[in-house]
Amino acid sequence: MIVAKFGGTSVGSAAAIDRAARIVAARVARQPLVVVSALAGTTNALIALAEQAASGQLILAIRGVEALRERHLDVAHQLLGQAGDVNDVIGELSATFDELAALAEALSVLGHATPRSLDAIAAKGELLSSTLVVAAFRARGIPASYVDPGAVMVTSDQFGKAEPRTERIAERAGQVIRPLLNQGLVPVVGGFVGATEQGVVTTLGRGGSDYSASLFGAALGAESIEIWTDVDGMLTADPRVVPEARLIERIRFDEASELASFGAKVLHPSTIAPAVRLGIPVSVLNAQRPEGRGTLIAFDAPKRPVTAIAGKQGVTVVKVRSPRMLLAHGFLARIFEIFDRHRTSVDVVATSEISVSLTVDDARHLDSLVVDLSELGDVAVERNRGIVALVGAGLGADSAAMARALGALEGTAVHMLSLSASGINLTMLVDADHVAPAMRQLHAAFFPEPA
Ligand code: ASP
Ligand code: MG
Repeated sequence: MIVAKFGGTSVGSAAAIDRAARIVAARVARQPLVVVSALAGTTNALIALAEQAASGQLILAIRGVEALRERHLDVAHQLLGQAGDVNDVIGELSATFDELAALAEALSVLGHATPRSLDAIAAKGELLSSTLVVAAFRARGIPASYVDPGAVMVTSDQFGKAEPRTERIAERAGQVIRPLLNQGLVPVVGGFVGATEQGVVTTLGRGGSDYSASLFGAALGAESIEIWTDVDGMLTADPRVVPEARLIERIRFDEASELASFGAKVLHPSTIAPAVRLGIPVSVLNAQRPEGRGTLIAFDAPKRPVTAIAGKQGVTVVKVRSPRMLLAHGFLARIFEIFDRHRTSVDVVATSEISVSLTVDDARHLDSLVVDLSELGDVAVERNRGIVALVGAGLGADSAAMARALGALEGTAVHMLSLSASGINLTMLVDADHVAPAMRQLHAAFFPEPA
């Protein structure tokens, strides 16, 4: 069996759901479990209306419910036309919206929303989308079968970011989903949503449907997991900065994780860890161009020196200089203790005998941090820096690649340089306005246009 997960934009309209149906129809023989997000924007709208209701803006909240109702019913009519069960579907959707309106009223009476009630409301997005998708698939000849995520995705009661109970999920998947697959049906389940052992609805946290897909895939021993989204896959660089960026066809899990820390938003690798750890390949694919090859993420893809070029701006450098550091121990510990106290995480560190340079992305607590650091030595702060990085699991073992990187940046001031111990990331600190040109130079050096 395989898992096919469709994100919010891939089920965000009648046309999108129609495309998803064609993708699934082509895969029925591979026994797909279909995992769906809410229609794009729905989860945000649900949370917003819950907060409005809880803060006394009931009319606004009810308007929010009605806007969602109109959108979903519209999509249902477009998808189903006069199909046999259109009235049943409209009835089911309407019942959910009536319930949402009642929940909003209850919150406005209470005057506050608990994490538990927020989850109950947020979960409705996937309930609605999966109801629509099941009906649309059936109308297109796919033997779809609705699965209640709460019946399989057993979680803790940490509302808003519930912890999955993987052993229980495997048991329930075997009881609920496996028989459907064995009968040749196509189960459709909402992502993001779970329930406690007692059946109270929870959610896995925002963007949680990728996590659901991975957990279901791991529970059922899927052959592969397809994450259908609205981009071609992961690219060798951010195409807004490097127009020549190209698709990465295979990427290692550790490289994808490294890129995520630079804000590559295609998917957060930690969410697919449960599947990748079991050796299940995960692909990111574009539902608008299903013929594309997408990006395959695997634990053991070959190690290349450079798989992608990343960059970010808004980096601040803090330098602490102190002759007392010479031959002293515990100096770094004291510095890090101060960063910890000011809740500021450090990204890159470089040391000399008498100075330490550290970079931070979040400079919110910088002023008070500097006051405390000044007790250890002279402190200097440099704002407006940025980072460019080469990411590749084979980088540390390839000194020629490192030489090539520095060669490509000739003429650009590099203020700090750091090779991660795992040899997967060569980070270079440059002026913020050099980040984009440096990324383009590095990309041209490592991914030359084919002649
Ligand atoms: N609908 C949820 C969200 O927007 C989960 C997801 O789409 O992954 O956060
Ligand atoms: Mg998503």
